[in-house]
Amino acid sequence: MTADAIAQTVRDSASAPGEVVGVLGAGQLGRMLALAGYPMGLRFKFLSDRDDDPAAQIAPHQHADYADLDAVVAFARTCSVVTFEFENVPVAAVQAVADAGVPIAPGPGALRVAQDRLLEKRMFTELEIGTPAYAAVNDEDDAERAAAHVGLPMVLKTRRMGYDGKGQRVVRTIEEARAAVRALAPDASRPADLIAEQFIAFEREVSSIAVRARPRSGSDFAPLAFYPLTQNEHEGGILRRSVAPAPDQRPRVRADAENGCRRVLNHLGYLGVLAIEWFEVDGRLIANEMAPRVHNSGHWTIDAAATSQFENHLRAILGWSLGPTHATAHAEMINLIGGHEAPSEILEQDRNVRLHLYGKAPREGRKVGHITRLAPRNAT
Ligand code: AMP
Repeated sequence: MTADAIAQTVRDSASAPGEVVGVLGAGQLGRMLALAGYPMGLRFKFLSDRDDDPAAQIAPHQHADYADLDAVVAFARTCSVVTFEFENVPVAAVQAVADAGVPIAPGPGALRVAQDRLLEKRMFTELEIGTPAYAAVNDEDDAERAAAHVGLPMVLKTRRMGYDGKGQRVVRTIEEARAAVRALAPDASRPADLIAEQFIAFEREVSSIAVRARPRSGSDFAPLAFYPLTQNEHEGGILRRSVAPAPDQRPRVRADAENGCRRVLNHLGYLGVLAIEWFEVDGRLIANEMAPRVHNSGHWTIDAAATSQFENHLRAILGWSLGPTHATAHAEMINLIGGHEAPSEILEQDRNVRLHLYGKAPREGRKVGHITRLAPRNAT
């Protein structure tokens, strides 16, 4: 089913409050979707392959393997609309739901591109969105050729299944590049399936959260909305801190972000929230990657935007109109990683902090919650 056909299916499904949103995946993003949807009268169901997931604590949950397409389709048939909350859900599962005629958004086409860094970079290039120079790398000789094309240092990344900085190496020499191919793709009998990217000496990282809803009747244009840019700091590939709206925004940067998001959303016939992560260099933006879902760098919107990314994602996939996306306060979002202090202590330290815990057991490197610190918009 094409992205347009899926959009049409979603358009055709009249929806009313009280309907059931089915979510593939049941992590904290799913949990925050449900928390945003309950006030609007929505009900939720989650499918995932673990029983102790954060969303399973607050909504009906079905345990199934995502590869069990019969189970996925049976689950979807009990829902008014289906979405997913992590991008490594198999495309086959999303395709099976679409083929069964159940509205699902975003669609399999967007997911397929987002799961593969090479397809993603090709799409950015086709849409004339700036992105680091890149080359496909399937063996050590390819890595050497790629170094000549993109320059050194360069970043070698797995095309698929990489997240939070996993599955990537920065290399400074040809020898390091060859060693990285052996480390990232140890089975030399198969294509390495890597991508080499130009290393970008960025000034900062920012992300844009955008949302596309179905066209209103009588209009050819789908409504789009953009949240203010967010400035992000990563450590070890994991997002630690976001500040929104990003300070010191140059008009050109904002225009790059919105034009880029608009092109991707329209190209994919997308419904729902999309995030694009960017590198800012010399007052321009270079696209790093996209996520076809609500995004960690948009968590501040729960406490400091007129409508949260979670609420707007639901409104978009249900065919409802979007809510305003402006910031109502300055926000600093800090991820709680590995574990956290007692809630009473966190709240006592700062009255302007909002606490979000995901119901996860502490574990090294695991996102277990976040706090949002708010300051009025006229404060600095
Ligand atoms: P990714 O998983 O692609 O988002 O990469 C995780 C982090 O690694 C990014 O947020 C950047 O901080 C860094 N990174 C990734 N790709 C590049 C690149 N081409 N140049 C410089 N830094 C990068």
